[in-house]
Order: sequence, then structure tokens, then C-alpha cells
Amino acid sequence: MLVYKFGGTSVGSVENMNHVKDIIGTNGKKIVVLSAMSGTTNALVGISDLIKEGNTELAQKQIIDLNETYKQTVSNLIQDNSLQKDVIDYVNSIFASLLDNVAEAHSELLHNSIVANGELLSTYMFSKLLQQHGVSAALLPALEFMRIDRANEPDNFYIKQNLERLMEDQYEADVYITQGFICLDVDGNIANLQRGGSDYTATIIGAAIEAEEVQIWTDIDGFHNNDPRFVNDTKALSHLSYDEAAELAYFGAKILHPQTVMPVCNLDIPLRLKNTMAPNAHGTLITNQIHGEGIKAIAAKDGITAIKIKSVRMLLAHGFLKKVFEIFEKYETSIDMITTSEIAVSLTIDNTTYLESITEELEKFATVEVDDYMSIVCLVGNHIIYHPDTPELFQVLQDVNVRMIAYGGSNNNISLLVNTSDKLETLQKLQRYVFESTTIEI
Ligand code: ADP
Ligand code: ASP
Ligand code: MG
Repeated sequence: MLVYKFGGTSVGSVENMNHVKDIIGTNGKKIVVLSAMSGTTNALVGISDLIKEGNTELAQKQIIDLNETYKQTVSNLIQDNSLQKDVIDYVNSIFASLLDNVAEAHSELLHNSIVANGELLSTYMFSKLLQQHGVSAALLPALEFMRIDRANEPDNFYIKQNLERLMEDQYEADVYITQGFICLDVDGNIANLQRGGSDYTATIIGAAIEAEEVQIWTDIDGFHNNDPRFVNDTKALSHLSYDEAAELAYFGAKILHPQTVMPVCNLDIPLRLKNTMAPNAHGTLITNQIHGEGIKAIAAKDGITAIKIKSVRMLLAHGFLKKVFEIFEKYETSIDMITTSEIAVSLTIDNTTYLESITEELEKFATVEVDDYMSIVCLVGNHIIYHPDTPELFQVLQDVNVRMIAYGGSNNNISLLVNTSDKLETLQKLQRYVFESTTIEI
């Protein structure tokens, strides 16, 4: 069975929802995971923030405006009178419950239940669109099978068991539609897989049913060799390995949620990226096969904090690194990049929740310097550290202030730490050098 996932733009208009209907076709059983219509999750986050600030009037106005937009969309999407009434009633009930939320005390639980509504709306609307066209479609409520455990990892046993049960209950359906992004937490509260999490939903489901393939349909023709939001003339890559894709997604390539690759790579389930707006374009096929040598793609991740820790005991302070790591372990804070010298270690983190406590503990045996607003620029490709062209890339970075380099930790990755204010220039210079010319002009 195939698992399809369509992102926000792909379901963001009546026209695009109809494209999606055509793409999934009518033959063979399949599971379709949908995001919220583009802009909806951001709007819901905004509403939740207004409630938190006590700005009830504006929150109410935004809920009513969004309700009107949805009613308009439904009337253009569904022509059948009784189906249309059904969907309008559903949409109104969602917005009525949002209006009730305005009077509630704000909490993380309330926030999560507010932002879950985008996926509930899009999947309901799409299931009725399919019904209108005579397709046998069934809605599988994600909140009845998608669950994370105490460590925020998917509870795979629970997911498989419940998903299979729900599918068996509706065995006659050809198309199973479900919500991306949303799930229950270990206590049964509404939670989510973090922003962009619908991709992750799709591969978790793909693994649970041992799908033939998982297809992520989005608004671009596949994984590009650099971030198209910041760099011109980027190109789609026809193939990537699981490791390459996972590394790029982890280091900021927004096309995939950072965890997407994990559930499918061990099971060898192909992951294909396709463009809803250009379904005939090849897209990117992600498998365990490795294609090409040298630098293949570049990505960047913002929101990085660098910590320089210098031992006060100077040389040969053995056990120093152990003590440092134990503190990060204690505060469950993972380290992305690390470089060491005889007396100091520099490392980066992206989760600063416990930064103050970490710094306090480190300062008992070291001097500590913290720098924020940093970005990691990550270059990925098979055996890039051995490729003859790679050393030259450092020439191109002569006038960029590179704060740290991780080279050799893996054969397939080189990471650079730069100030976020230098990120754009770094990405653009690398693009020109790596993909557009073999000789460097600085
Ligand atoms: P969806 O709503 O379909 O999940 P996203 O906006 O999350 O779509 O992801 C697609 C977007 O990711 C693209 O429009 C593009 O701007 C951005 N992007 C960032 N890096 C890359 C990359 N390396 N390749 C392709 N797209 C990328
Ligand atoms: N709707 C959610 C978001 O905007 C999840 C997703 O689109 O993947 O983050
Ligand atoms: Mg996305």
C-alpha cells in the first residue's frame, strides 16, 4: 500500500485540493495524510497567543474571520447540497469550540488543542470532496491511533495496533484519509509532532503498515541542493540516500521535518518527494542507495547557541570532557557540533531551556562563554571529506567569519558554524563555488 502526504500548499485552495484528488487516483487502497490548509496553523497559533495575552476581543474577531473564509472555501469546494451542509456544520462546530476556548485559562494543553484544528478541518473537507466524486473514502482519526510516549517518541506498538484496527473497521474503503501533525501524548492529551510534523506522521504510518512507498507531495519539485528561500538557481536532486536526507533535514532543510527519515530507513521503505503543482516532474527518491561523490547539498539551521568551555586547571585536565558531557546529559540537552583543544571545548546546542543551569554547573570547574544567534551550515555528500575539490571550499569562506568547523566526524558531512547574520552570504558563496563553477572567484 502507498502512503501519500500532502502539505499546506497542496491542500491550500479548492483548485489544489482537486489536484490532490486527481493525483491519488481511484485504483488501489492507499492512506492519505493531510496537513492543514496553508496559513491555518499559523493563524491558530496567533489566536492561541492572543488568548494567552488576554486579548479576547481580537482573538474572537480572528476566529470569526477564519470561520467565514472556511465557509467560503467549502461552498466553492462542495457543490452537493447535503454534503455541503454537512461540511459547513462541521466547520461551524470547530469554530464554535474555538470561541468557547477564548474564555478558558491558557495552558499548553489548550494551545495544542487549538492548533490541532487545522488538520481536522482539511481532512474532513477533503473526505467529503472524495465522497462527492464517488470515491470510497474513510476518515481515520489520528487522535485514535497516533500517540507519543514519555520521551516524545512515537509509540509504535500502540500506533500499529490501533491503525490496523481502524482500517479493518472500514475495510471497504479505498482511500483512508488522516490528519498529519496531531497526536495524543502519554496522558491522552492532544499533542503534536512539532511544526511541519505531517511529514513525520506519514513515515510513522508507512512503517506501521510496512508501506510499499511513502510519497511526500509539496510545493517544489523535490529536494534541492541548497535552500531555495535564500539562494537562486538551486536544483532538484533526483536521488538521495536516507543518511543524506536525514542529515539535511536535521540541519534545516525545511522540505522535510527533521525526524521524517527515521521510521522508514531501517525498513528500507522508499521515500519519494513530489510536486503537487508539477506531478510529472521526477522529484527526489530517497533510498539506501548512494549516488555520486563530493558535495551534493547544503542546508542551514538557525537558532544555534555556541558554548566555549575552558578548563581552569589548564593542561592535561583528564576527566574534563566527561564532566562536561555529564552536565548536558543531566539536562537532556543534545549537542550538535563539537570541537576540542587541549584546554577547551566548544560546542553547540539548539535547545536553550536549561542553558542557565548548565552554565552554572560548568562554571564550577571552567570558564564559560556563550554566543547566540548562530547558524550551522551543513554540507552533505558521499565521501565529501575525501573528495579532491572539497579542501578548496575553504578558500571561498575566506571572508566569512567561520566560528567552528566539524570535519571528519563523518565521511559524509562537513558543518560550519557562522553568525546568523553571515548565513545568507555563506550559503550564496557556497552555491556559486560548489555548484556553479569549479574555479573560485573571490
Ligand atoms: P509543505 O507545506 O508541503 O510541508 P514546506 O513549506 O514545509 O511544505 O516545505 C517545502 C518548502 O521547503 C519549499 O517550498 C522550500 O521553500 C523549502 N525548502 C527549504 N530547503 C529546501 C530544499 N533543500 N529543497 C527543497 N525545498 C526546500
Ligand atoms: N500544519 C502543521 C504546520 O503548519 C503541520 C504540517 O504542515 O506539517 O506546522
Ligand atoms: Mg512541511
